[in-house]
Amino acid sequence: MSNQETPSVLLTIFGATGDLASRKLFPSLYNLYQKGHLSKNFACVGVARRNLTQEEFRQRVQDSIGEDAEALQPFLDRFSYHSHDVADRSSYKALKQITDELDDRYHIGGNRIFYLAMAPEFFGTIAEHLKQDGLKSSDGFNRLVIEKPFGHNLPSAKELNDHIRESFNEEEIYRIDHYLGKEMVQNIEVIRFANALFEPLWNNRHISNIQITLAEELGVEERGGYYEKSGAIRDMVQNHILQMVSLLAMEPPIRLTTDEIRSEKVKALRALRSLRTEEVRDSFVRGQYDAGEIRANAVPAYRDEDHVDTDSNTETFVAGKLTIDNFRWAGVPFYIRTGKRMQAKSTKIVVQFKDIPMNLYAEQGETLNPNLLIIHIQPDEGITLHLNAKKSGESLETTPVKLNAANTAPTGINTPEAYEKLLFDCMRGDATNFTHWDEVALSWQFVDKISSVWEAEKESFPNYKAGTPGPVVADELLERDGFHWWDIESLELKDC
Ligand code: NAD
Repeated sequence: MSNQETPSVLLTIFGATGDLASRKLFPSLYNLYQKGHLSKNFACVGVARRNLTQEEFRQRVQDSIGEDAEALQPFLDRFSYHSHDVADRSSYKALKQITDELDDRYHIGGNRIFYLAMAPEFFGTIAEHLKQDGLKSSDGFNRLVIEKPFGHNLPSAKELNDHIRESFNEEEIYRIDHYLGKEMVQNIEVIRFANALFEPLWNNRHISNIQITLAEELGVEERGGYYEKSGAIRDMVQNHILQMVSLLAMEPPIRLTTDEIRSEKVKALRALRSLRTEEVRDSFVRGQYDAGEIRANAVPAYRDEDHVDTDSNTETFVAGKLTIDNFRWAGVPFYIRTGKRMQAKSTKIVVQFKDIPMNLYAEQGETLNPNLLIIHIQPDEGITLHLNAKKSGESLETTPVKLNAANTAPTGINTPEAYEKLLFDCMRGDATNFTHWDEVALSWQFVDKISSVWEAEKESFPNYKAGTPGPVVADELLERDGFHWWDIESLELKDC
């Protein structure tokens, strides 16, 4: 993040007593404040249904940050609370009065951000009231930040978008995909466009396949009700995974501006081959976790989780092969997989380069490992390049080695949280790392085809044990093409 200070701004958080606000938003705002990024003319109004006094609310903000009151006081002074039912029109009149007063008191000049940290069914109504009841300011900027999920298929996303667009124009809407705030996801562009080494190789002449894994150890926790209607394909593929695919596949933008980058990402998503029913069956597989063990603790099957149907057909795992129909990527499969209750939490991208034309070491009975570029997104952050080198000693034997750049201490510790970066970007009006409606629509269009085939065909679930790498069908998907998943954690390579 640059050292810039944000412009003056009044931030209204709808859902300010919720989990997202306390776990992510308040600590991120505090980090921005501590680093001197937050404008002196900043104020925040928390809005939620519960009746709280100003003191009780500030206490919650303090608890979520975990610092002592004295150190926090100047920061906490900027926070106000308004008990508000988002469906009740009279609430907005009172909220308008509060925001106007705060605007004057903190010399904000009309700059407003409305952050909807609430269930999606309220997004349209809130946006409508913000305009109708005069909360949008006519002096400064107005920005609406929207959390996921943005609809549950293309028609519902379109309906929601149309509703919001009656009150906010596209430039004012900041759709959050918190993966786009992650350090190493932002690093994809830098790795590609700031290195003479990679860009010439970044195509179907030199890359054999790309693998994206987004594995979670957690199960559905208390989100069973939501997850039953979503499943892994809507919860992870439609947004985070397709965003990573678009960053890996896009053409170099002519400039690093929001519009230029978005336009290249949209083109990449447009080139994604949409699937016919038969192709869905061939190139996508799903799984659901059974009871098992995670770090030696017994965990229940998905069907035994709270708010989950005992006969549920919802997938907690997806693997698939994506094809991008353009000159750069024709013939290069992009394999993706994501799942809950996997053996380890890990998000990473593996770029596998093609084998060299001829193995001069074959006569010595050696097979050469392919070169791999690995982008570790979480929990580790860094880049690893797998090469072949000479084994030390007299013979000419080869050995795989890796060049490793890990974002561990001291810089790694200070890696800003995704929400911190996204809040900072939004305050400065940089929408690059938020999703444009065109990206949302194209992603739903792709995913809807898969969901509709899966909803019509029941799968034999559960088909993988919790604490494992997922169902065997996911391995078979790659084996058919002569590849396998690179489980990097299990590769014993020497650091260079
Ligand atoms: P939550 O259930 O913990 O909080 C919901 C908030 O909305 C509470 O403050 C509640 O008081 C308020 N609320 C509910 N009904 C209201 C009404 N009628 N009027 C006024 N306020 C009302 O939810 P959450 O986990 O904080 O999630 C909020 C949004 O963020 C959701 O869209 C969710 O999908 C998304 N999200 C959350 C996380 C996370 O880590 N929690 C991560 C990604 C996305």
